[in-house]
Amino acid sequence: MSATPDASRSFRWTWFRHIVQVAAIALFAAPVLIAGWSLFGASVGGDDPLSTPADLSFFGSLSSSSVGGLALLDPFGVLQVIVASKTAPVEWLLAALPIVLVYGLIRGRAFCGWVCPVNLVLEIEDAFRRKLGIEVREAPVPRRAKLWIALGVLALSALTSVPVFEAFSPISALNKGVLFGAVTGLWMLAAIMLAELFWGHRVWCRALCPLGGFYEALGRAGLVNVKLDQEACIHCNACKRSCLADPVILEPALAGEDAVVRAGDCMACGACIDACPTKALSFGLGRGAKPAETEEPAAEQA
Ligand code: SF4
Ligand code: SF4
Repeated sequence: MSATPDASRSFRWTWFRHIVQVAAIALFAAPVLIAGWSLFGASVGGDDPLSTPADLSFFGSLSSSSVGGLALLDPFGVLQVIVASKTAPVEWLLAALPIVLVYGLIRGRAFCGWVCPVNLVLEIEDAFRRKLGIEVREAPVPRRAKLWIALGVLALSALTSVPVFEAFSPISALNKGVLFGAVTGLWMLAAIMLAELFWGHRVWCRALCPLGGFYEALGRAGLVNVKLDQEACIHCNACKRSCLADPVILEPALAGEDAVVRAGDCMACGACIDACPTKALSFGLGRGAKPAETEEPAAEQA
């Protein structure tokens, strides 16, 4: 059965989410501009030679920032540095803790859906791909690969004493590109964009990104969940077709085996809620116990 989304809806999570994604980029760009610098490395240094973003009460990037003197660090970056350096200073752990708590409480992959600039770039690219009629494979890599890649990154960081993903991260590269015009790391982003265009639909975010794998593991306990009203569902699969993570994560709920989308993969992006023609889907707080008799097979968990 097919159905079209309700065009009369005045509010769409996707629009709101895109505003938040752009605001996240603007948030980190603002201290640079306020300090009198320019973005994209157009010019560095304002008239006041003492003015730097670090003088302000908020500055930094998604990897490392300071808010009113409180240091914040990307927890996956901290893990890599810890295993690479074989040291674990308490201040690093304390700086990562607020991020772990926030995403752990909300939903781990809310970072992917609402904050990560790479996801925004890839969503824009995907919209163009569809307009151009370029067909790519669905799920060419199992979605759980990103968990193993995250573990592999940690093992490689320990072996090489280098925080491996930090060295190649397209997220850092995009951040540095916008703030300072640094282009050296953008080859990774270019490779990912080519993979999305010619290899697999959303293959990076769905299956390959180790940071997504880290947040997927964290997202198993999140409180914000998509819930399904079974009586309203007409099984049109519009939600599955729109899912930014992986369509299979909606299947237990659609099959009546669970009340919520439980998988840690869910980005809480709201695309499925927007797509549903009968308003059967909505965000809810809490997830309840997983129905024992309908537990997902091990390969479908997370
Ligand atoms: S299940 Fe819905 S909210 Fe979760 S990632 Fe898929 S489309 Fe987004
Ligand atoms: S939840 Fe909504 S979009 Fe998904 S199958 Fe049911 S009616 Fe269709």
